[in-house]
Amino acid sequence: MSERIPLARPVLGEREEQLVLDVLRSGRLSLGPMLEEFERRFAERLGAAHASAVSSGTAGLHLAVRAAGIEAGDEVITTPFSFVASANCVLYEGARPVFCDIDPRTLNLDPRAAEAAVGERTTGILPVHIFGYPADMPAFERIARERGLWLVEDACEALGAVHADGTPVGARGNSAVFAFYANKQITTGEGGVVTCGDAAVKERIDSERNQGRVPDMGWLDHDRLGFNYRLSELACALGVAQLERLDELLAARARVAALYGEALAGIEGLRLPCPDEGGDRRSWFVYVVQLPRGVARDRAVEELRARGVDSKPYLPAIHLMSFYRERFGHRPGEFPVCEDVAARSLSLPFFPGMSEGQVARVAEALREVLACVSARA
Ligand SMILES: *Cc1c(COP(=O)(O)O)cnc(C)c1O
Repeated sequence: MSERIPLARPVLGEREEQLVLDVLRSGRLSLGPMLEEFERRFAERLGAAHASAVSSGTAGLHLAVRAAGIEAGDEVITTPFSFVASANCVLYEGARPVFCDIDPRTLNLDPRAAEAAVGERTTGILPVHIFGYPADMPAFERIARERGLWLVEDACEALGAVHADGTPVGARGNSAVFAFYANKQITTGEGGVVTCGDAAVKERIDSERNQGRVPDMGWLDHDRLGFNYRLSELACALGVAQLERLDELLAARARVAALYGEALAGIEGLRLPCPDEGGDRRSWFVYVVQLPRGVARDRAVEELRARGVDSKPYLPAIHLMSFYRERFGHRPGEFPVCEDVAARSLSLPFFPGMSEGQVARVAEALREVLACVSARA
């Protein structure tokens, strides 16, 4: 049988090797020039005022909600259709994520549902640009302004996405968090960046990622609680090299998505990712389809694997995870759109180096599997 097709695979080349080697040879492995270089280039690329590199997207979310002023007992409105980190960061601070249903087209937090959920204890909204499709930030910004709430954007899946007004995702002045795990648009192995428009927020994040140290005081002066959320020079070197080829990486992802769009057209009941609408531009992160109703998804995953194709149910609804159910008493039926999408979503192999032949193989396997799994269902 032909080679297995993985879900994701990073693009790493000589430039990455060279910059990492330079750092190794420099002997300066943390808090050095690569950190500044990576932050400067990242902010410049997005047109954001400030960027702070951190050890992961999760760490970035944690520092961003702290800098926004989150306090224990607060309620934060967010989406249940996300990677769990966007809700967990609220729990880290003793606050409570209040979930709202999603828009069935974009799969992002529905602004109307969010507005309806604002209550006395609500202090912030945390929208996620899921699967790289821009969340409706103008709507959330209006709600936040009118209700006096803070906003933190989870842009971990959306590097390169652009809002209808031409603003890149993460450059609106709200704190926005990016992540660089190996399957993201760019990777540093592990890592993240928080962009923001406010110099005081940048200063607080830079301090708290580094044990609460004041920027120009000695190493052992700590004037606030901090963490070790630093990103190493080695990781920053990878980030610099990856940023240099960002356009090429994004174009390659868009090419693969277009190939999938053609190869999967016309399968009955199969829902493909929504096309861009109204001027918003998706940055392709994953290729997630929603299987036809009634298909046993676990069987489909097995049958795809038997044909050499990796796939993964993605994403599960956060409120129905056992930890969230037990802690907050969530039950199925609370967020019908999210639950329906979460039950049918399947992530297919998707990475910049994917060939037309590989896309065709995935499509053929999926057609076969759907025919056999549906027939027996
Ligand atoms: C990847 C991701 C994160 C952060 O992930 P880390 O592994 O901590 O870098 C957060 N939110 C979403 C939606 C993500 O996809």
